Amino acid sequence: MNKIGMGSPRTVDLANGVHAILELTTIGDHHAANVGIVTTRKALVFINSGQTEAQARAIWDYAQMAAPRREMTYLVLTHHHLDHCFAASYFDDRHALIYGHRSFSSCMAEMRKHLGQHDYQGMLMEMLKMTPETFRTTVGNVHPVAPHRHVAEELSLAINGEEIAIMHLPGHTRSELVVYHPRSKVLFAGDAINTKAGPVTMFGQPKDWQQWIAGLEKLQKLEIEKVVPGHGDIAGPEIIDKHIAILEKKLAAAAAK
Ligand SMILES: [Zn+2]
Repeated sequence: MNKIGMGSPRTVDLANGVHAILELTTIGDHHAANVGIVTTRKALVFINSGQTEAQARAIWDYAQMAAPRREMTYLVLTHHHLDHCFAASYFDDRHALIYGHRSFSSCMAEMRKHLGQHDYQGMLMEMLKMTPETFRTTVGNVHPVAPHRHVAEELSLAINGEEIAIMHLPGHTRSELVVYHPRSKVLFAGDAINTKAGPVTMFGQPKDWQQWIAGLEKLQKLEIEKVVPGHGDIAGPEIIDKHIAILEKKLAAAAAK
């Protein structure tokens, strides 16, 4: 069933209290980003928020069902692109502690300027070419939120004895973060990994892609069994090697010009 502002999401139980929600779409087949959930003894950790109020509610309700009565809520925004973070206010309203890279807000400001818009609603309407009426009925009453806590290069959270490692992995954008959960060996890669479209390099230059490769090479050293990408299906760790190979090809092509 395709619900307004939600699409037909698919939930995946990755075991060890880890879940992913895939195939969220906003309007038409405009897909929103995947969402990850890590549940600990007393907390819920969300990786990205969805784009619409309906998505955020579905994500929230699913987590409450998977792990009821948790006392603390965290939300990590992998970057400032609106398909990943637009519904963050839904989680803010429910007292989530929100993490993002320290460049998140300046990247967001740059994007707003680039789109020639004054507010979040205008940005999303411009991006998805929607009318105010469609915005009202589809997106609903949500908006991005500036992170409460800033991540620089790396940050390790200890939540009820579980480690959640947040790492800066720029390249797709300057504000890109990935989240690694050592206990389950799951990596939530944001748009550092995209199994739908491959690495989306249009927001950067060859020097950014070099940084991207360096970041992915660091991930190769981690024990990873599953990768939840920003978009597309869940993959094994070999997707990291594939992204490096594609980025190297793009670099070589750019150098040959
Ligand atoms: Zn993105």
